[in-house]
Amino acid sequence: MGVSPSESLITDPPLMLPQNRQDPIYLDAHATTPVDPRVLEVMVPFFTDQFGNSGSSTHSYGWAAQGAVEQAREELATGIGASAEEIIFTSGATEANNLAIKGVAEAYLEKGRHIVTVATEHAAVLNPCRYMESLSWRVTYLPVDSQGLVDVEQLAGAIASDTVLVSIMAANNEIGVLQPLEKIGRLCGDRQVLFHTDAAQAIGKVPLNVDMQNIDLMSITAHKFYGPKGIGALYVRRRPRVNLAPQLHGGGQERGWRSGTLCVPLIVGLAEAVTLGISLQKGENQRIRALRDRLWDHLKPENSGLTIYLNGHSAQRLAGNLNISIAGIKAAELLRQLRSHVALSSGSACSATAQKLSHVLKALGNPDRQPFANLRFGIGRFNTVDDIDTTARLILEAMRSPSAQK
Ligand SMILES: *Cc1c(COP(=O)(O)O)cnc(C)c1O
Repeated sequence: MGVSPSESLITDPPLMLPQNRQDPIYLDAHATTPVDPRVLEVMVPFFTDQFGNSGSSTHSYGWAAQGAVEQAREELATGIGASAEEIIFTSGATEANNLAIKGVAEAYLEKGRHIVTVATEHAAVLNPCRYMESLSWRVTYLPVDSQGLVDVEQLAGAIASDTVLVSIMAANNEIGVLQPLEKIGRLCGDRQVLFHTDAAQAIGKVPLNVDMQNIDLMSITAHKFYGPKGIGALYVRRRPRVNLAPQLHGGGQERGWRSGTLCVPLIVGLAEAVTLGISLQKGENQRIRALRDRLWDHLKPENSGLTIYLNGHSAQRLAGNLNISIAGIKAAELLRQLRSHVALSSGSACSATAQKLSHVLKALGNPDRQPFANLRFGIGRFNTVDDIDTTARLILEAMRSPSAQK
């Protein structure tokens, strides 16, 4: 047919969402994603007909709810190579990270008071760590290299006799960089410290297996991969057993580790989103990566003539992530020009006067590109080739406009 293999990968999604033509193109998939219609469909009955409390043991409403929760738990566990008893449902990754860090710290006070994490973690890991510092714990924030990767040798050097926990994310939410989980897990296993990973951006998108990667605790959330907002989970290893002090006390749900009535429709949606994500993973990543590479092709200096840098490792990253720094315009100005057509975000929070660089970009170093406008693109399941071409055209137009030349 005369179509090269790489060309044939650049396709529109097999399933399109009904979208208002006036709505901006959505390229902010690291912030959140729409619920996939297939996920919504399995959730709906649990809001209405099957509304029971999964803790009610005296009637069929409760039994149906409990059955659905246990099936979802099994599905989710299977997706990450775990068993059902190792899953605790939470309200999302923020809660799962808090439970992992504070829960482990409280349960292992006897062993020591030291945590190792990384400078580029999400605030939902960094702030629980800072909180532990306020309780006299010691926290080591490891640096990353200019590509955003942690150095496993350096990690080995940071683990001390009183280290209880290492917390390192699977995939970064700004620059998409994938950390070497397997190597980190092996090291933590050898040194007998617990390994927690925040996999909020990785679940459903990259293969995760708690045994192969030697993970003791893993945080996930549904809304970053086409599931509903307000639901997530913490995986907690049983063999060898990881202990945890509950952070929410109440009716003793989730084996006492996380009290509160379970939200059955959201739990069912989480499991369906994971299962669907894993089943689509290979083909979807190829398609999304082809769109991402096409966007970069439009923008890269050789083709656009712009002074523009790619932030983060060029290969060790999520398929849908592109993070760039552009010279010659302020991020706020560029986003202002684009916002009615394209929804995306800047890795840096900017005010009118001062530009504040994100802690992730700061950690990469690269001082030459730090003053530049930073854009984070999150390409997802429902983006089309036209979304990419239109976005690139609008950026190139904005860069040529007179206000860009200040
Ligand atoms: C989104 C995100 C979180 C927070 O997840 P919520 O479910 O919204 O609480 C934590 N860590 C990372 C890496 C994220 O991308």
